[in-house]
Amino acid sequence: MADNQRTIKKPFFLTGVGLHSGEKVDLNFRPADDNAGISFVRIDLPNQPVIKVVPENGLMEDSNIRCTSIGKDGVAIRTVEHLLSVLSSVGIDNLVVEINGDEIPGMDGSGLEFYKAIKASGIVEQESEKQFFSVKEPISVESNGSSLTIFPAKEFKVSYTMYYDHPFLGAQYFSSEINEDIFEKEIVSGRTFCLESEAAELRKRGLGKGANYKNTLVVGEDAVIDNELRYDDEFVRHKVMDLIGDLYLLGIPIKGHVFATKSGHALNLELLKKIAKQKKDCSKKAHQEVVDFDPENGMDIQQIMKILPHRYPFLLVDRIVELEKGKRAVAIKNVTMNEQFFQGHFPSRPLMPGVLMVEAMAQVGGVTVLTNEAHYGKVGLFMGVDKVKFRRVVVPGDQLVMEVEVTRDRSRTTQLKGVAKVNGDVVVEAEMMFSFTDISYLE
Ligand code: ZN
Repeated sequence: MADNQRTIKKPFFLTGVGLHSGEKVDLNFRPADDNAGISFVRIDLPNQPVIKVVPENGLMEDSNIRCTSIGKDGVAIRTVEHLLSVLSSVGIDNLVVEINGDEIPGMDGSGLEFYKAIKASGIVEQESEKQFFSVKEPISVESNGSSLTIFPAKEFKVSYTMYYDHPFLGAQYFSSEINEDIFEKEIVSGRTFCLESEAAELRKRGLGKGANYKNTLVVGEDAVIDNELRYDDEFVRHKVMDLIGDLYLLGIPIKGHVFATKSGHALNLELLKKIAKQKKDCSKKAHQEVVDFDPENGMDIQQIMKILPHRYPFLLVDRIVELEKGKRAVAIKNVTMNEQFFQGHFPSRPLMPGVLMVEAMAQVGGVTVLTNEAHYGKVGLFMGVDKVKFRRVVVPGDQLVMEVEVTRDRSRTTQLKGVAKVNGDVVVEAEMMFSFTDISYLE
């Protein structure tokens, strides 16, 4: 059975100090709608800019910064990785995090406080199916003796080899499938760390102001200074947590097996960007396949579902029978007594709701505009409807024949005209408008 998307059950609040900035910040966590994704809102700034968790917003910064930032239009939020790692591992797809500063608090240096707070709030399943990206072909990146490769796999797995030319750290290895159980037991408590020599250097550069011996494992010659390890190999576990968080910048969970050797945030982000590119190329290819339209057989429901994100019971097109890519389509919808909407509209005299006839035409419109090469790999958002006229009712047993034609097509918006008929008689007509988004809900 497919999983559904998840958000938190109720809002909650956390406060803490940024590890680098040393400043106190407050976080408000709020549930978000299906398909909304994860967004941060800088409520301390004018107009409260929103930064979505999408690959384009992952910032490639100086690798010595030692944290992952996201940003857009000059507004950034630092040290998002531990929180994202927790969100990824508990399966949160949709969430709003309001923040009144530019760095996620470091808490105890691990993901534990975020994890506890989310579990205390509770997690709820939503209506929409969870989206994943399954890596299709191996991808590798490397730099200065560090490397990362992701291979196709049924689950999300991480195998990490850490190596420091240091008597206390040396080599550590961690390999496991990543799920909530394993994350909670083996990963979430691993704290951030640095070498004693690096600590001095970071402070000199004005970083690590919020770090202390409790929230950061500072590694001396042969021991951790003024602290005790939670696991013997806590360091590699933390590296795994960082990697999981960095890869969640994809915006949806990944299915694939990552092999990492000595990788840090900069290389993690480089891999992420390549995964994002593969994802984009894949959805373009999927579109390309279905738009190789075969006039003899038309386009069946399986092909339609490669273009439209809609699913039963809200997919209201059965078959596309004629298609001029990006220009015009004719489609059918067989209206049967089994439709869910007849249960309440109206049981004694079932009628297809007029708005659903418009929605059905809009879905045909969606297929029509998304077969225009300029819009491949995008999602059409139904933005407006005008001049709707309902001419007669539609009842179980009717076959809706919908003809939709593009009247104006621009890069960001498209206008269409649609008419639906039953037995040659017009039942509804309307003008519709779509806009496009790059966020694809399709694999
Ligand atoms: Zn970290």
